[in-house]
Amino acid sequence: MANPTIAIVGRPNVGKSTLFNRIAGERISIVEDVPGVTRDRIYAHGEWLGREFNLIDTGGIDLSDEPFMDQIKHQAEIAIDEADVIILVVSGREGVTDADEYVARILYRSNKPVLLAVNKVDNPEMRSDIYEFYALGLGDPFPVSGSHGLGIGDLLDEVIKHFADEQEEEEDDVIRFSLIGRPNVGKSSLINAILGEERVIVSDIAGTTRDAIDTSFVSESGQTFQMIDTAGMRKRGKVYEKTEKYSVMRAMRAIDRSDVVLVVLNAEEGIREYDKRIAGFAHEAGKGIIIVVNKWDAIEKDNHTMKEFEQDIRSEFRYLDYAPIAFVSAKTKQRLAQLPDMIETVSENQSLRIPSSILNDVIMDAVAINPTPTDKGKRLKIFYTTQVAVKPPTFVVFVNEEELMHFSYARFLENQIRKSFEYEGTPIRIIARKRK
Ligand code: GDP
Ligand code: GDP
Repeated sequence: MANPTIAIVGRPNVGKSTLFNRIAGERISIVEDVPGVTRDRIYAHGEWLGREFNLIDTGGIDLSDEPFMDQIKHQAEIAIDEADVIILVVSGREGVTDADEYVARILYRSNKPVLLAVNKVDNPEMRSDIYEFYALGLGDPFPVSGSHGLGIGDLLDEVIKHFADEQEEEEDDVIRFSLIGRPNVGKSSLINAILGEERVIVSDIAGTTRDAIDTSFVSESGQTFQMIDTAGMRKRGKVYEKTEKYSVMRAMRAIDRSDVVLVVLNAEEGIREYDKRIAGFAHEAGKGIIIVVNKWDAIEKDNHTMKEFEQDIRSEFRYLDYAPIAFVSAKTKQRLAQLPDMIETVSENQSLRIPSSILNDVIMDAVAINPTPTDKGKRLKIFYTTQVAVKPPTFVVFVNEEELMHFSYARFLENQIRKSFEYEGTPIRIIARKRK
């Protein structure tokens, strides 16, 4: 089950992004060398009382070419489309404005649960300012202060009451994947070409509108795949679909729902910042990753072209050295037939478990080749390593001092694990923990 999604809406300057950052909190990244992933966030993961959720700040989807009222209308529409629960933010300092009423009316008609947060209520004396907001017809207003961190808990208590009951993790054998990439790299063409080759299952399960767009098919090997919808695949002609922030947000949501992510590049254009950002997010989310270079038919090639392209990819996506690369063409269907098998293999690798005894042999051999680092006369000691999770494979290394496990040494251990076991296509996490 995908986690529920909260969207934050409201006119500019009421404090949406301040609240977003409060609710998302600081998630400390395990991977330190992924640039640009957490900067400028409009999409994040959060947790309250053990319930995990996704959070969207619709105010961050920049539509500044549009008239003011249209901007906030589109942001409300995105929230209605994407979210399970919507938080409408207003400002207790300014009172009810026309724009607040306008957004409230749009949300009111949506049938989604909407909670009203009156922000900038920075002290108890200001709590009486909230009563005029009953006029918006959205029930009890929640006084909060994003900048002081007040009232957020009460608001989230109410938000999670509207989440559907937690379901057991579905243990079906379906492999979920998505194609992620900039506009015009050929995602739709690839999808049509892949589906043209496979037996498509027409789903009659009543799902949400969002899920109904996903397509399932069975490959020759008998494996069922579900292709997750992303921006650009369902073109509905909304103005915001063309904005980069929106497409990044949709891509992140698709990645969250996928087991394996196909990062699609255009052979004619090479690698761009957007590609790195999206791939970095998939890597951080611990998803299986395959790099697909499309339009391979369209470029001049000699015996070195593929090798050179591969070297470019490896130097641009340094942290993705584990991801296999497929050079394909949606147009000529070159090498497309291998994609389902590649996805299946990567998905299996994500779930591979290594018995502790074998794992510890590998780690001890690694330490023999490359002695553990020292810092100020103290040497890292490794006592024991164990795999604690799959999807992605996660290893805990019990040590004398966590700080002595330098990033470069963790990276070395990761490489030794990769040499011994079949982990192609999946990130691996190595966590040092002090032995008690
Ligand atoms: P957004 O445009 O709705 O995303 O609003 P921002 O989060 O960028 O905040 C707009 C302004 O309001 C900034 O100057 C914030 O510092 C300020 N602000 C946000 N939350 C609060 C709050 O709880 N109290 C006060 N006094 N100011 C706040
Ligand atoms: P999307 O925006 O990523 O979904 O990209 P589309 O699938 O709409 O493709 C964008 C353009 O690239 C279209 O004109 C396609 O015909 C073209 N295209 C897609 N795949 C290939 C390919 O493998 N080779 C060539 N030469 N053109 C392609």
